[in-house]
Amino acid sequence: MKKPKPSPPAGITNPESLMMSYAYNPEWSEGALKCPIFQTSTFVFKNAEEGKAFFEIAYGLRKQGRHENLGLIYSRLNNPDLEILENRLSLWDGAESCTVFESGMAAIATTLMTYLKPGDTILHSDPLYGGTDYFIKHILTGLNIQVIGFNAGATKKEILQLVKKSNGKGKIKMLYIETPANPTNVMVDIGMCAEIAEQMSTSNNKVKLAVDNTFLGPLWQHPLKHGADLVIYSATKFIGGHSDVIAGACLGKKEDIQLVRAVRTFFGTMAGPWTGWLLMRSLETLKLRMTCQMKNAVQIADFLASHPKVEKVYFPGTIDPQDPQYEIYKKQCFSPGSMISFDLRGGEKEAFQFLNHLKLIKLAVSLGGTESLAEHPATMTHSDIDKKTQKKFGITDKMIRLSVGVENPNDIMDDLKTALGTIQ
Ligand SMILES: *Cc1c(COP(=O)(O)O)cnc(C)c1O
Repeated sequence: MKKPKPSPPAGITNPESLMMSYAYNPEWSEGALKCPIFQTSTFVFKNAEEGKAFFEIAYGLRKQGRHENLGLIYSRLNNPDLEILENRLSLWDGAESCTVFESGMAAIATTLMTYLKPGDTILHSDPLYGGTDYFIKHILTGLNIQVIGFNAGATKKEILQLVKKSNGKGKIKMLYIETPANPTNVMVDIGMCAEIAEQMSTSNNKVKLAVDNTFLGPLWQHPLKHGADLVIYSATKFIGGHSDVIAGACLGKKEDIQLVRAVRTFFGTMAGPWTGWLLMRSLETLKLRMTCQMKNAVQIADFLASHPKVEKVYFPGTIDPQDPQYEIYKKQCFSPGSMISFDLRGGEKEAFQFLNHLKLIKLAVSLGGTESLAEHPATMTHSDIDKKTQKKFGITDKMIRLSVGVENPNDIMDDLKTALGTIQ
């Protein structure tokens, strides 16, 4: 078994055309059309010389020859299901390289641990995904890493002022953002953050900009093209897309991803072959699914905005063109995606009445799957944020978060309408 060497058919560059075949050769597996699951912990070397050469490259003991590939050694280092998946996933973001993990949190934790050490500072947007928030505020601070948070929607001037005010001790090594923010869909300007990272960099300290692109990527937002260094995914969401797998990924320049992959090897946070195989299955329909979900969401957002029991809709597709957020949306997003949050008229009681009467839409956290899901951020996904901070972020008891699936949009709207009608 040779290591896969990506070679797209001449002239084909659209990722959706390449997801079924790219970077896999049926000759490697008895002519199997689909890449099999390489359920093996270790790989046999042809001879001792080959084993020696693979280790020299894997451990950086000498420079890799121009036509030399890193061979397969052991599934914690590399495995065909992961390598082929990484090659395919890179195409959507136009990334040089990718490394996949057994969860989004594994991708986030491993990437942050690659770039941060005691005494460093991380600057991040708020609110963040709950797991990331906990990791940064409880685990990184325990390692003497200083944390500075800024509100999603803050201007460059406000962010720089905040840094000036609070950055006495540490040295900023990373700017970490999530856009659009969860659950409020507030946009963070990626290009502006790249400028800030550049401005804070010195000749021997390049500040890395990392973007959690789970909500709109990899179809509708490409942060690397706006100056980000690293793109991170919970592949559990849109990339997996069927709510049946937990996975993550980090993408960027070859030299950056090499560093992250080395840390992945020693933390052992790589994805397993089954996960790799499932995600390859998912990538074949990624564009179909995300396009259908987005089209459904556009209709549903309009429906919600016109419903008398709905006070406010938070959706990138319905931002007022006068709002400064609109310019950011136009600049960095190809579509509004399929995550909608909205405020009901009322509070927790009304929100629960609504959620308890949904039939087609399931009451569950997570997002990006083929089925529509609804949840109550204030008491579920964001319940570990104190009330005062929740309020600062715009997370209230009347807010519902909706992940729109691929069902017939009329059926989704009927379900919403019936459940809204039960609110007293
Ligand atoms: C779900 C999620 C994560 C965490 O990913 P897991 O796969 O659950 O570990 C990180 N960021 C965002 C934005 C998410 O939605």
